[in-house]
Amino acid sequence: MFQAVAWVRRGLFHFRAGLSVRMNSTAIDRKGVLADRVAVITGSTEGIGFAIARRLAEDGAHVVISSRKQQNVDRAVAELQGEGLSVTGTVCHVGKAEDRERLVATALEHCGGVDFLVCVAGVNPLVGSTLGASEQVWDKILDVNVKSPALLLSQLLPHMEKRGTGAVVLVSSMVAYVPIPKLGVYNTSKTALLGLCKSLAVELAPKGIRVNCLVPGIIKTEFSQVEKTLPRLLPDFNDIYGLQRFGEPEECAGIVSFLCSPDASYITGENIVVAGYSPKL
Ligand code: NAP
Repeated sequence: MFQAVAWVRRGLFHFRAGLSVRMNSTAIDRKGVLADRVAVITGSTEGIGFAIARRLAEDGAHVVISSRKQQNVDRAVAELQGEGLSVTGTVCHVGKAEDRERLVATALEHCGGVDFLVCVAGVNPLVGSTLGASEQVWDKILDVNVKSPALLLSQLLPHMEKRGTGAVVLVSSMVAYVPIPKLGVYNTSKTALLGLCKSLAVELAPKGIRVNCLVPGIIKTEFSQVEKTLPRLLPDFNDIYGLQRFGEPEECAGIVSFLCSPDASYITGENIVVAGYSPKL
């Protein structure tokens, strides 16, 4: 109830896929910080991506949700629409070119353009030695975690340029800074994302498009549950230096909204750690 009131007070747009966008009277008075903007989010039907989708929509954006499974997309869209938020969705396995094309088409068709791309989808099919990893495993991890954000952005970029400004947020991991021994290929992919962030930031700065990176520690999601090995493999840095607990997906979402917002208009090429501690200087 409290949340519902908060959302109404934030003045949100309400819209359904394929239907016209309408604005409630409160929205005219108190637009959210991301009002009238459009966000495309990969891997956003669960966990960190879902929390980001909800937060950007609460802050006024029209959000395009996506993941590999239609039933997950349907459930996530229904849940957020049920909260009065402006979301639509489509299936997009980020490793598949035809799915990326459909995601771009969905954003254009339902929202008329794109301002923000948040690349959350990531996989780790291997717990084992780096040098024992098959070429297939290398290809899968690098395709999904590293190549797909760049390939998707290359398709969205002309549309983002038309809007004059834009923001991209990549989702790396603390393993980029503190590698875990049995997750070597995954560690490498997440380190590569920091490099991708830096390169894209300088390449796209003249176009007014900012690129930053969210760097989560251990966040309570299905991913870290399935990866039961992850907490056990991690050094006890959080116990020694940190807030002594795992993070919640929502604790990653606010920083993404900030990075998309005008408050971050002079921030690009930055990596922001959300881990309860920080190994960065
Ligand atoms: P999660 O709760 O398991 O959610 C993963 C989401 O991504 C789901 O919506 C899933 O839906 C979708 N997905 C999976 N593979 C996909 C693909 N190939 N293409 C498109 N969508 C895909 O995971 P999470 O913990 O939120 O993790 C999200 C990101 O954060 C990942 O990049 C991960 O590496 C990173 N991260 C997580 C943690 C952590 O502790 N949780 C820490 C650091 C970094 P479908 O099954 O329908 O595709």
